Amino acid sequence: MAKEIAVSGVQPSGDIHIGNYLGAIKQFVELQDKYKTFFFIVDLHALTESPDPKKLREQIINLAALYLACGLDPKKTTLFIQSHVPAHVELGWILNTITPLGELQRMTQFKDKAEKHGVLAGLLNYPTLMAADILIYNPDVVPVGEDQVQHLELTRALARKFNSQYGNTFREPKALLRKDVARVMGLDDPTKKMSKSAGPNNYIALTDEPDVIRKKIKTAVTDSGSEIKYDPQNKAGISNLLSIYSAFSGESIASLEKKYAGKNYGIFKSDLAELLVQKLSHIHEKYKSLLKNKKSLMKILDVGAKSASKVAEKTMEEVRKKIGLI
Ligand code: ATP
Ligand code: MG
Repeated sequence: MAKEIAVSGVQPSGDIHIGNYLGAIKQFVELQDKYKTFFFIVDLHALTESPDPKKLREQIINLAALYLACGLDPKKTTLFIQSHVPAHVELGWILNTITPLGELQRMTQFKDKAEKHGVLAGLLNYPTLMAADILIYNPDVVPVGEDQVQHLELTRALARKFNSQYGNTFREPKALLRKDVARVMGLDDPTKKMSKSAGPNNYIALTDEPDVIRKKIKTAVTDSGSEIKYDPQNKAGISNLLSIYSAFSGESIASLEKKYAGKNYGIFKSDLAELLVQKLSHIHEKYKSLLKNKKSLMKILDVGAKSASKVAEKTMEEVRKKIGLI
């Protein structure tokens, strides 16, 4: 039986953080053995946040290095840059033509980011390009964090609509969420998700130096009171730190609560910081060493784009025929 297909991407829009890792990249690594996988760097999406061109170029290559440092293996996975497979954009346009404007305007990410970046058409149309990124590979599953579930629902709706209008073409992919850490919260504001675009005190980057990690955990917002207890409603800060601790150590939240009963926030935070320093050091070292050979990173991405293009072109042939372009 053919392997099931998994597809996902990360924006090269800043420092990749532990939310991206736990919610998305860690799943990518776990999936590459069982699934046929397409993982990419969604550079065109990053444009919606008006990046500095020089920085963008660097962030693209950094993300490639980070994917590999986290354990993606180009022998197992098709790894590439979104803009190197232009068929994504073609399908994105086609999907735009069947997407009701109201569906895009009600997306949470659009509303949040429009506040920050202004109401740009690219920000509004982000989910149709994302739907194309996914549907073009006809995947079974899409490993993402919880914040992307709304976009994935739209992707499924667009697949249904296209199929009913033009005949069966796309599969409706399922979101694959980590149950425990599908939504890591911000360190400086634990009521909102951790985000690259929220500023460095909001997140722990996978490439933060040990002292930076220690400082960020030390200053992470915690709640009044002193008990180390999981209670996201009333103790959002400590609950978030407990989830992070549990995800990186493999210990259950209940056993962490027991371990820290009667102890203060300071001890708990300092242990968490050391855990993160230790767990991230391996990724960080590998990342630095991979970046020494940018040519070989680009080679991997070129090979990936060629093999992704073959699959994407096959889908586009069918799409063009179905809608009457050829
Ligand atoms: P930005 O603020 O620029 O949108 P981001 O941190 O949201 O950056 P993305 O590149 O948009 O990162 O998302 C990459 C992947 O990481 C997606 O699958 C997304 O769902 C997941 N992800 C992002 N933030 C979190 C989080 N706080 N917790 C869990 N998963 C997350
Ligand atoms: Mg995002």
